Amino acid sequence: MIATRQLLRGDVLTAPRSGDVRLLRDHVVVLADGRIDAVRPPQTGDPTASDLLLLPGFVDLHCHWPQGHVRGRFSGALLPWLRTHIWPAEAKFDVSAVATQRAASFVAELLSCGTTAGMFFGPPFLEASRRFLTIAPAGMIDGPAIMETNCPTELQQPASDVLKALQAVPPGERARLVVSPRFAPNLTREGLAGCGKMARDLGLPAQSHLSENTDEIAWVQALYPEASSYTDVYDRAGLLGPHVVLAHGVHLSDTELARLAETGTIVAHCPTSNAALGSGRMPVERLNAAEVPWVLATDVGAGPQLSQLHVMAEFIAQHEQAGVTVTACEALDRATRVPGTWLAERDDNLVGLGTLTEGAPGHVVAVRSPGGQSAEDTLRNLFAAAAPAYETAAQQVWCWGEPVQIGRG
Ligand SMILES: [Zn+2]
Repeated sequence: MIATRQLLRGDVLTAPRSGDVRLLRDHVVVLADGRIDAVRPPQTGDPTASDLLLLPGFVDLHCHWPQGHVRGRFSGALLPWLRTHIWPAEAKFDVSAVATQRAASFVAELLSCGTTAGMFFGPPFLEASRRFLTIAPAGMIDGPAIMETNCPTELQQPASDVLKALQAVPPGERARLVVSPRFAPNLTREGLAGCGKMARDLGLPAQSHLSENTDEIAWVQALYPEASSYTDVYDRAGLLGPHVVLAHGVHLSDTELARLAETGTIVAHCPTSNAALGSGRMPVERLNAAEVPWVLATDVGAGPQLSQLHVMAEFIAQHEQAGVTVTACEALDRATRVPGTWLAERDDNLVGLGTLTEGAPGHVVAVRSPGGQSAEDTLRNLFAAAAPAYETAAQQVWCWGEPVQIGRG
């Protein structure tokens, strides 16, 4: 890596540890050799004070990169939305040139929005996911959506074939691949169990969808009558655990929540997607009471914007409207440090991801400072100032210490 050193000056907002979001007025973030070298008060010779607010790069643990170019374009409920719009769009990614071009534009747009790390669903083609990884910076991981049944034939592939191909990928590259059964209706029992076993045997993370919409839940119950719940379908397949991220969890019973908590399974809460598809409000207060770990994520392309600022703002709006107490500081923590820590548990190179602390990856987002008396105040002002075009709020972004070329559109 080329030795580079940059000094960024502004107000700094970060959550170095759980429940501790700090606003540091007029500080300097020193980037050196791709990492954060220091966060300190200004000294003689530093750049002059700026009107910027510096945040850690956002981390998004649930997002579909092949849907980036159709994000926010369609609506409707989950199942017709998938069948009419999403699956036909993903079928085109079987052509490697399309996959490469789309992956490149997706990563460029994502970085421009301030998201510098995360976990992504690819199209149902391993080669496309591998191409994505050659373009995406370290800290972004992905896997091909595994679909065996109940979808267009051109997207179907036996899970056993996908898993065999995944196993054949050299270990260094495989470490960034994710076992990604799309959701229970697209898999056979054997396929799901194969995914659960493969993730455990190879020490890989896994991702899927859980309990997003009531029609979907009824379909799962009909397909898996032996299971006591949607969560139980994954439990029987060995697909619960701290290495698994399940998106949504909008309509879960107390028993399901208890099981998710017991196994340490992560829920990706996607409020903008839930709003777009009319899936309902995820009861965050029940997840908290049951101690289910959760993060905030975009779920693009059902989520209409790649910006985690939009997700944080919608999180506040949805839950406060329902009379549930939430804070902007918690939103920031769940969109930066919490998902960053989860990724770092699998990769020592990522320790500190999602924070502005010494030694952390050099991921910084600069926005115009919206003013505010406290961290909470400042974040709420930021959400208001950035609405509705959250994707253009970042003035500058650094990824691994390098400035990102901000592209719009
Ligand atoms: Zn999703």
